[in-house]
Amino acid sequence: MGRPEKPVPDPVSPVGKLATALRNGRRLSGLSYAALSERTRDYSAATLQRAASGAVVPKRDVVRAFAHVCSLDVDEIDRLWLEAYRTRRPRRSAAAAAPLPHLIGNISELRGALGELRHASGAPSYRMMQRRAQAVGLELSRSTAYRISVGQQVPGSMESLEAFLVGCGLPPRLHPVWGAAWRRATEHAESIRLASVRATQELEAVVADSPKGVVSQEAAMRLLRKADFDALERYRGFDMPWTVECMRCAATLRVRLSDVVLQRATCLECPEINERVHAAWSDLLANHSGALSRQEVRALRASKLMQVRFQRNHLDVPVFVGDKETGAVLQSSAWHPVLESALRRRIRRRFRLDVFLVYDYDVMTSSRNGSRQRRLAKAAGLVDGPIEGRRHGELDRGGGATVPSRVMATGESSSPPTYTVPPARRFDRQIELPPAPTNSGP
Ligand SMILES: [Zn+2]
Repeated sequence: MGRPEKPVPDPVSPVGKLATALRNGRRLSGLSYAALSERTRDYSAATLQRAASGAVVPKRDVVRAFAHVCSLDVDEIDRLWLEAYRTRRPRRSAAAAAPLPHLIGNISELRGALGELRHASGAPSYRMMQRRAQAVGLELSRSTAYRISVGQQVPGSMESLEAFLVGCGLPPRLHPVWGAAWRRATEHAESIRLASVRATQELEAVVADSPKGVVSQEAAMRLLRKADFDALERYRGFDMPWTVECMRCAATLRVRLSDVVLQRATCLECPEINERVHAAWSDLLANHSGALSRQEVRALRASKLMQVRFQRNHLDVPVFVGDKETGAVLQSSAWHPVLESALRRRIRRRFRLDVFLVYDYDVMTSSRNGSRQRRLAKAAGLVDGPIEGRRHGELDRGGGATVPSRVMATGESSSPPTYTVPPARRFDRQIELPPAPTNSGP
């Protein structure tokens, strides 16, 4: 018995599928590669093993012989081989068809055409291209020749283009048509850039607070905060990169105010935080540690985790409570530490947890059903009903475990009610977090 076969490098690629099919065939046939080799007569065991390696596209005849002696469906194997062969070969064969420079109208077409040009010219080595350019007094480094050939770069000047054409060995009479193509492509790129600059200027003029049509530092900060970002450095310009912090999840990112205004600047980490909190929530419901009572688990299952918010190091977790009974159980913060440890396992960042219970408006008692709360809730961009909550951690200051949550919606309270905010809504931190009432007295 030989060594076990290495796994197929990429089993879902066409060449990987071919290799897998061949291997399966051999396994079913029960033949070793040596035995296979004997039966095919023409191919060595090594060749056959290589054909089923998934690392290369083998020769078609080898594959057919392989399939034949393993009693595989030769047509099917042929089809897999063709697939592998097609995708394996980058269209080098296009070398025969030289690119048509007079059709080039933009940078990406120019980029592609210059790469094809090198192949069409017999793919001279980069060293050779450098030497050819040098011979006529032009500068073309090997790395530049490479980058242009693979489309990572386009010549930055007419001279650089010329050097590349010489490097490819293109006859001088064909240079002007390439020169014209280069000019068209670069002019096109420039016109796009100018149009985008103009559009940005127009946009800035619309949102600007000064008669000069420029956004001031203060206005910039205001716009930024409205989009839930906070500046980590000075504002430098409407279309300049700006390092900011996401106020929902504390991630640092670079945005342009122009993108912020167009709502194109989004934090990539926010969705991730939400995902992790949801995973922690599932851990909580599973109650593996047994730290929760059955009643608590039932109540938690009956409620719903809303979109969380991570701001600075505060993690706000709003929990929607649909009925009074559930609310009564969850009023006690006994389950908060369990949630917190589930969260700590999932979120590797420092945070202070705030749990908010969000009640459905309809289950509120009528005394709490005041229009003031409703108005405030609406003003804060909330769900239809008022919201009752409790900040985890403040409870201890409040006294015993039976303390009702920091109240909210009673109307007689001197402190403003606390509201949580549904996802994707703008809010004002000031409204949201009033000073804790328990500490305010002398
Ligand atoms: Zn974020």
